[in-house]
Amino acid sequence: MAQPAVGKANETPDRYVAPSAEFRADRYYRYAELTDLLHSWAAAYPELAAVESIGKSYEGRDIWALTLTNRATGPDAEKPAYYVDANIHAGEVTGSAVALFTAHHLLTGYGDDPRATRLLDETALYVVPRIGVDGAERYLASPEQMRSSVRPWPEPEPQDGVQREDLDGDGWVTQMRVRDPHGPWKVSTRDPRLMVRRGPDETGGEYYFVFPEGTIKDYDGGEVKVAPPLWGLDNNRNFPARWGPEWEQRGAGAYPLSEPETRAVADFMLAHPNIHGTQHYHTFSGVILRASALRADEDLAKADLKTYKALAELGTEETGYRVVSIFHDFAYDKKKPMMGNHLDWVFDSLGCFGFATELWSLPAKAGIEVVDFLKFFDERSEDDDLAMLKVLDQQLGGSGYKPWVPFEHPQLGPVEIGGWEFKFTFQNPPGPFLEEECRRNAGFTLRAMGTAPRLELVEASTEPLGGDLHKVAAVVGNAGFLPTYVSESGKATGRIKPVSATLGLGDGMALVGGEEETELGHLMGRADQYEAFSVFPAYGNSTRRRVEWIVRAPDAGTVTVTATSPKGGVVRRELTLGTVG
Ligand SMILES: [Zn+2]
Repeated sequence: MAQPAVGKANETPDRYVAPSAEFRADRYYRYAELTDLLHSWAAAYPELAAVESIGKSYEGRDIWALTLTNRATGPDAEKPAYYVDANIHAGEVTGSAVALFTAHHLLTGYGDDPRATRLLDETALYVVPRIGVDGAERYLASPEQMRSSVRPWPEPEPQDGVQREDLDGDGWVTQMRVRDPHGPWKVSTRDPRLMVRRGPDETGGEYYFVFPEGTIKDYDGGEVKVAPPLWGLDNNRNFPARWGPEWEQRGAGAYPLSEPETRAVADFMLAHPNIHGTQHYHTFSGVILRASALRADEDLAKADLKTYKALAELGTEETGYRVVSIFHDFAYDKKKPMMGNHLDWVFDSLGCFGFATELWSLPAKAGIEVVDFLKFFDERSEDDDLAMLKVLDQQLGGSGYKPWVPFEHPQLGPVEIGGWEFKFTFQNPPGPFLEEECRRNAGFTLRAMGTAPRLELVEASTEPLGGDLHKVAAVVGNAGFLPTYVSESGKATGRIKPVSATLGLGDGMALVGGEEETELGHLMGRADQYEAFSVFPAYGNSTRRRVEWIVRAPDAGTVTVTATSPKGGVVRRELTLGTVG
């Protein structure tokens, strides 16, 4: 028997928006509150957090970056760093929430939680919680939806066809259904809220056309087209990773990094060569994507694929999400690889192991096992829809699906407005489900931060050689999982400098043996030995190298040994030259 329609038509999109700048894990932040929250953290934890603007958006808003590290143990630039960003796609506000949750966890955990303490002592985290600041603001404050920016693209004016509008003033743009004997849709017999497809040869029922809620520009009483979005930019197609123009890649923009938001992000990342790994938050599907979008796994360096999979395991352990290659398992069209995306630029040009997590899955919440993430939305069954509605009905009092309500349309006459409220059902978790999403995904970032290449002075010593000569020796090691070049992909760019050791001399000293700056090459981590223990072990240890200097120091004094790696950090030790006993 059909159930009575439930649902709350009077609940507006701001019901899950944070009412103030106080931190909550179950709410989404508008720009003013987000800005205040970040600055309040910098003020409350001056030794651990700093906030800066990395550039201005199309509408002139600052795009914020938060730097987290314990400055007492060294500046961020001298530590290996992880990078997290979110909300390059305006409506995917869950990512901002996860990014904020992660920062909050580290700041409040420092000093109590041994892992948070260690990570902020030894490494740094850069967080850009919201790239698409203009779009996200409209998304949270109005019924509007857009892909990335609010800069009109590729046309400056709205085009003919249905313009998505909140006609009935309920705060949402949903769907309009119009009774018509030629319509391809009909009402479900199992739940009158649901629309299901009409059979290929089916006649004799009540059928509907379904359009987006809105008015029709240049409607002539015949065809109803859906206008392309006015805001057609996709900033995640605007990066210089085999960038393609609009006619090859929709939303790409006029040229690579043409948009102020993508330019700001790229400049920030290039200015921080200490970044070894990245996380870019998107929604939705409940899957972690990895490079490449452009190439098959067989065309990646073997060592990189192995390391990528090792890091991916951490993600699956923390989130329960599968990790897939975009090229193999998240391609809209396998014959046309996605061009100009951020993740490929990060892997190919910066050499960082990056992940793009498609947060949240209503189907998963409803217990549906999704095998093909992209096909699911075209091929899902009525049972699937009923299962998802049940989640909304039982756990959210029916909110998230708007029952069909009659409306007198200025052009179409009598219609009914209703359907899925996409924004906080499919695209983002409703508030009560947000914290769980934040917690497990923050868990992956914390694990990934712990894989950094990290220089250490394993030994540093001096030995008087008689007269005024002294030997200074150091063993420089990589204490991390990743090698100091991070990836073969990074090595191939030629941009990641090898480890060097420098000896700083005191007054009146002279170097008589060794080079003041000695290049040690790259140091391996543990990643290359991350495998089943060999049945015929032939493992060495290439995580460390020794360096020696001979110093003439008539008045003894101190010297400083400094080891430097762009990705592994900078370590120093001051040594006092002794005398022969
Ligand atoms: Zn996205």
